[in-house]
Amino acid sequence: MSDKSIFKRIIDKEIPADIVYEDDQCLAFNDISPQAPTHVLVIPKKEIVSLAHVQDEDGPLIAHLFLVVKKLAFELGLGSGFRTIINSGADGGQTVDHLHIHLMGGRSLTWPPG
Ligand code: 5GP
Repeated sequence: MSDKSIFKRIIDKEIPADIVYEDDQCLAFNDISPQAPTHVLVIPKKEIVSLAHVQDEDGPLIAHLFLVVKKLAFELGLGSGFRTIINSGADGGQTVDHLHIHLMGGRSLTWPPG
């Protein structure tokens, strides 16, 4: 049994995912359990456990992830609005220990979340 996270296995193409974008720094794919008509996860290829584990040197990478999120939001037709979420740690609702940005849209999203 691999001790890689499920997202690292997706990066390494060991398990399939519905990939919507990829470059040398990141990967974006559809969430397996979508909570909105569009629900994409954008992840760094670098293994970073969570936002709490980001180092100063990761600044350009984090900026790149958000620029990809913005670009994808428009490419996926979410120009009228979208939501980004980063769950961090157990109490933050994080279930996969590899940093990921949720990009959700395609319906009117309510606030506050649960
Ligand atoms: P978290 O709860 O950590 O913020 O979000 C993890 C997300 O990963 C969840 O929305 C969950 O549905 C998604 N997810 C978990 N395993 C897989 C998988 O194997 N493939 C894909 N595409 N998404 C997954």
